[in-house]
Amino acid sequence: MLIPAPPARPLRIALAGFVHESNSFAPSPADMAAFEQGGGYLPLCRGEQITDRARNVNLPIAGAIAYGERQGWDMVPLVWAGAVPSAPVTADCYRDLMEEILRGLRQAGPLDGVFLDLHGAMVADGVPDGEGALLARIRQTVGPDMPIVAALDLHGNISARMMDSADLMVGFRTYPHVDMAQTGHRAAQHLDRLMGGAPNAKAFRQLDFLIPIAWQATDAQPAAALYDMVAACDDQGCASLLMGFPAADFVDCRPSVIAYADTQAQADAMADRLAQALREAEPAFRGDCFAPADGVAEAMRRTADQPVILVDTQDNPGAGGNSDTTGMLRALVAADAQNAAIGLITDPAAAAAAHAAGVGATVELSLGGRSGIPGDAPFQGRFTVNALSDGTCHATGPYYGGAHLALGPSACLRIGGVRIAVASEKAQMADRQMFRFLGIVPEDQAILVVKSSNHFRADFAPIAAAILTCAAPGPMPVSPASLPFRHLAPGLRLEPGGAPFTPPAQG
Ligand SMILES: [Zn+2]
Repeated sequence: MLIPAPPARPLRIALAGFVHESNSFAPSPADMAAFEQGGGYLPLCRGEQITDRARNVNLPIAGAIAYGERQGWDMVPLVWAGAVPSAPVTADCYRDLMEEILRGLRQAGPLDGVFLDLHGAMVADGVPDGEGALLARIRQTVGPDMPIVAALDLHGNISARMMDSADLMVGFRTYPHVDMAQTGHRAAQHLDRLMGGAPNAKAFRQLDFLIPIAWQATDAQPAAALYDMVAACDDQGCASLLMGFPAADFVDCRPSVIAYADTQAQADAMADRLAQALREAEPAFRGDCFAPADGVAEAMRRTADQPVILVDTQDNPGAGGNSDTTGMLRALVAADAQNAAIGLITDPAAAAAAHAAGVGATVELSLGGRSGIPGDAPFQGRFTVNALSDGTCHATGPYYGGAHLALGPSACLRIGGVRIAVASEKAQMADRQMFRFLGIVPEDQAILVVKSSNHFRADFAPIAAAILTCAAPGPMPVSPASLPFRHLAPGLRLEPGGAPFTPPAQG
């Protein structure tokens, strides 16, 4: 008598996320409250909340869930935590979130694979290689044979420990990161392949120079051509080029290439080809940068039908800034710029004062400038309250991809011809809705100042007459060469063509 085979059990996958880009020199650390709030990411969520909230947003976890649902996976979402970039994660917060992921894996029952949504440039207090330590503990917990796949940010600083502990890692290919969900989808596809027993040889190459984030945009050269080469590897395996995040003070802070293929020879060939192309591109990672007054003067000189965009790159909250420096605001007001707007300036006290005064009122304020940045200070002035909001902002542009931002009590303040989008919570200005929710129509402005480095391009480049990078005092210098690094790899060039790093004498 024939015994019918039992129905095939669906593949059972644990999903978790722990995402932070850490700037060793930024003013404020990421604690549990920062992950609970989530910044431009999702607020901290657990279990089924993750599947609910990650639907239709531009995050790797969303792409992985969409793939898993189509494949009929039995998904076990554990915890998803992401905080806006800042100084390193506090020791308590790092330990608690890591332990929660490990506990979830231990209690998940039989699993076939693990999908992780990570950044790659997380530093925690006392743990320089945040993802390396996390992946090693996850490997220890699930054993040597369980496939572990991670999606990574293009800014990941990759370590050998990460390479050893994860079976496969896939980085974004765009900056602005418009392909976050797509990367999660691609990573999940590779996890599927590995769970089916596919061979998996690895190759890892690190480069010898830091790349300033201002010149990493993938809609410009040399990055555009490099990422075309990465995509061309898809028929031979899985390759990623990580630009690195050049403000994490540890030995693996540098660009890298990672590649996976059926054979070691194939993986090595892909990695060598991409690393060589990146090496040859070193002199091309450069651009022009304006002092604040010069940038404003240049923008006022160019009269155009579309806004001129001034990029306040050194206070980019996506690179660890608090989004509260006032150098560009000061330059706009000093030049009596008209029909200009700047955002976001994060200042909960100013937002509260505006809410207390009401629309149409005049308030005397000391705005922003509280991050202790040399050369920066609060901006003292009388402002008219033009609009108020509870900070709910549906960011529909290609970077946030439909995320619902919770910016807290917010206000549009006006001084002369300059309008300021003030929020209580910090998030990178990378979506036109982040002006619009306060009544500022970005398309109608002559000048827009954005606190961002490149993510704004996804939604603002289509309306920009010109984009000018400016250097007002802030915590993320245009060139990493001016950061007080101590722990980088000796000999690493601190900018393209720059001087090699020598570790400072101990003592
Ligand atoms: Zn990034």
